[in-house]
Amino acid sequence: MNIAFFSTKSYDREFFDAADPQRRHPITYLEPRLTEQTASLAVGFPCVCGFVNDSLNAAVLETLAASGLKLLALRSAGFNHVDLLAADRLGIAVVRVPAYSPYAVAEHTVMLMLALNRHLQRAYSRVRDGNLSLEGLLGFDLRGRTIGIIGTGRIGAVVAQILSGFGCRLLASDPTVNPELTRLGASYVPLAELYAQCDIITLHSPLLPETFHLIGAAAISQMKPGVMLINTSRGGIVDTRAVIEGLKSGQVGALGIDVYEEEEGLFFQDLSERVIQDDVFARLLTFPNVIVTGHQAFFTREALSAIAQTTLANIDEFAAGQPLANQVTAAKVRRK
Ligand code: NAD
Repeated sequence: MNIAFFSTKSYDREFFDAADPQRRHPITYLEPRLTEQTASLAVGFPCVCGFVNDSLNAAVLETLAASGLKLLALRSAGFNHVDLLAADRLGIAVVRVPAYSPYAVAEHTVMLMLALNRHLQRAYSRVRDGNLSLEGLLGFDLRGRTIGIIGTGRIGAVVAQILSGFGCRLLASDPTVNPELTRLGASYVPLAELYAQCDIITLHSPLLPETFHLIGAAAISQMKPGVMLINTSRGGIVDTRAVIEGLKSGQVGALGIDVYEEEEGLFFQDLSERVIQDDVFARLLTFPNVIVTGHQAFFTREALSAIAQTTLANIDEFAAGQPLANQVTAAKVRRK
């Protein structure tokens, strides 16, 4: 199947070309992000491959359907940016990569915790500047600390495993209990209890109507003063303005995020020659106790290789008229 591949980076080419040496699915690599303005680049392609910050709203899907699109192959786990009702109505099948490397994201999550706790960014620049003072670098032992994990699916479970190795006490929240966590000694508790008891809270649930702005002013006010918040899941789960207020008052002691609610149009590009126009994002960057990474938690060799292989296998299934193991539809999501 001919694939129009949007938001292409050098690493996408490297891993997709390596995963399909026979070129069974010819790929046209396109650098632009998929938007209403760029959708015309996909005219005549039966398959579009999109990433997390491509715009896949009803208007874009209608343009793509009118120009022959049959399959939208997401090279991501998240699909909150796709209007699934519109895709169903237009007869476009949507497939995704539900799991590639939970280790990549979990390890990045724990890296953010460690870096914030030990003030790594400040220590790094201080030492390079010849300042070897320890003032302001005080951290705490992770051993014995209480960590709250919201969302204990694939990634949350690996985070729990790693932190269990550090000797942390684990509290969890998820509508579905994962026996792997209970085996590690984690306790599932109501959110209010998790908020009240945890020194660090880390988010690993999908972005759904019920998780949108889950971490807002009300939740933050119930947390331990000085709590560390980590979000490597989806930006919309955190109300950024409320967290900024929490950082200003000291109620939030540290923030590590790999995702941002308005990241579309901001992340995955070099803006170093420009002035960032998003004032909320710019304010976040002014805090010494905030680390932002640009949606890089997934970015390991193992993950990119698995993403390419699963995406191509999804396309193989569609091309062969087989059932689509990794299909997402509006009906499936409603049933969850
Ligand atoms: P998963 O489907 O394996 O697990 C998600 C868990 O969240 C499930 O156990 C589900 O029951 C739970 N959940 C659903 N609603 C909830 C709620 N209201 N409260 C608490 N838990 C709830 O997904 P995963 O692969 O572990 O991915 C987790 C998140 O990480 C997703 O948001 C995904 O988009 C994101 N992600 C980010 C990156 C990155 O690079 N930053 C990479 C991959 C995935």
